[in-house]
Amino acid sequence: MAASTGMAALADCRPVPYWLDQPDAPAARPALAGGTGAGLAVIGGGFTGLWTALLAKERDPAADVALLEARTVGWAASGRNGGFCSASLTHGIANGEARFPGEMATLMRLGRENLDQIEATVAAHGIDCGFERTGELAVATAPWQLDGLARDAAAARGYGEDVVEFDAAGVRAELDSPTYLGGTWYRGGCAILDPAALAWGLRRACLDAGVRIYEHTPVRSVTDAGHAGLRLSTPRGTVHAPRVALAAGCYQPLLRRLRRYLVPVYDYALITEPLSRPRLDRLGWRHRQGVGDAANQFHYYRLTSDNRILWGGYDAVYYNGGRITHAHDQRPQTFARLAAHFFETFPALAGQVRFTHAWGGVIDTCSRFCAFFGTAYGGRLGYAAGYTGLGVGASRFGANVVLDLLGGEPTERTSLRMVRTKPVPFPPEPVRSAVIQLTRASLARADRHQGRRDLWLRTLDRLGLGFDS
Ligand SMILES: Cc1cc2nc3c(=O)[nH]c(=O)nc-3n(C[C@H](O)[C@H](O)[C@H](O)COP(=O)(O)OP(=O)(O)OC[C@H]3O[C@@H](n4cnc5c(N)ncnc54)[C@H](O)[C@@H]3O)c2cc1C
Repeated sequence: MAASTGMAALADCRPVPYWLDQPDAPAARPALAGGTGAGLAVIGGGFTGLWTALLAKERDPAADVALLEARTVGWAASGRNGGFCSASLTHGIANGEARFPGEMATLMRLGRENLDQIEATVAAHGIDCGFERTGELAVATAPWQLDGLARDAAAARGYGEDVVEFDAAGVRAELDSPTYLGGTWYRGGCAILDPAALAWGLRRACLDAGVRIYEHTPVRSVTDAGHAGLRLSTPRGTVHAPRVALAAGCYQPLLRRLRRYLVPVYDYALITEPLSRPRLDRLGWRHRQGVGDAANQFHYYRLTSDNRILWGGYDAVYYNGGRITHAHDQRPQTFARLAAHFFETFPALAGQVRFTHAWGGVIDTCSRFCAFFGTAYGGRLGYAAGYTGLGVGASRFGANVVLDLLGGEPTERTSLRMVRTKPVPFPPEPVRSAVIQLTRASLARADRHQGRRDLWLRTLDRLGLGFDS
């Protein structure tokens, strides 16, 4: 029933990311032509690159900053995500406590400050990106998930987070789904926003601050040009810069060492047409929280400013060999599954609402589920990557780390174990594909068997390894 309703609701979908499919998308800046210099060259115009450029100008308004983007600013993960802007730098408290024990109080504080500063920047630059600090509602849809919710809520409270716990009736009073058995509302730690509008707003703020932005300008190579700095070669020009920030997400041909740590995982999302007021009232959702369920294969969903529902997640797909291609942006079997799950969650909307857009994108996944950082070329190139599906907020922190590292002076951030250590590398192909597919199958099995983790997952847990979107 939900499956056929879902298929019907998908019939007229546009196969492009909703956020990027807007009439007010900015026209591209001209590509770099000829030779130029810069004090800081930023490679990549996603959130990490945009924040790096903007923060560099905030630190030193006289800084000469150039940003080079292979396509257009925000076209990749940054402009096509769920728009959950979380305070968490560590992909949740449990993951952070497991990997950086003793450091979590600091990481929680830095994460809160980071989210506050994103909110302040959005306000200061008048960025119209539908920023709403709604918090996040975690919901249990199977009895085995309730213990985990309670544990996570207690841990968050221990760090001074504003947490409200609900039983089934309580959570359904927030948002009415017959699948809910309990929930936790983390009130301050997350905002929802329009990610493409944020990227375009940051782009505008960079331009206003004097950053030179070159779009359709892929950097083909980085070489050491001695006293002239690092030399970035693009199809029609070159940049010489003493400092380079590599903010290229999952696209890492420029620094081979990063390929060991990153795998491209495809994540998919749908969005509905705007819900009428009576339909939305039937669901409740007065506090408009971003929502995530507590399964291993989880869904995330939220309202937009005009009351569409964005619904994504569940399948986290690694294509064997790790190829990134436009063809993978569409996956009809995942869209059908997502649509069916949507109507199982909200049966009151069956036959009442259609999806308008269906899309996918690449998540830069690493084995510790949160960003890692480093330098190359004797400290003249800094990088941040590996946000593993939680980079909308954390990318601003990553940008600050990159600038700290390039500055060469120790800071509170650069002294963190999180910044000084790297994730465990993935094995090379074809073992990489085999290991990832085995892990995905085990996670799906755990969801079907009351969360019981099999020998493979328990072994990975002991080794501090994992796979996530
Ligand atoms: C479907 C989906 C849903 C997600 N949902 C959420 C969410 O709700 N909340 C959340 O926190 N995170 C989410 N994420 C993850 C989040 O989008 C990313 O963590 C974040 O956008 C990473 O930003 P980035 O700048 O590091 O990378 P990207 O946005 O990938 O940007 C990298 C940029 O570098 C450019 N580039 C690469 N190589 C070169 C080169 N050689 N020369 C010039 N330019 C180059 C690329 O063209 C690209 O524009 C989601 C991701 C996806 C795909």
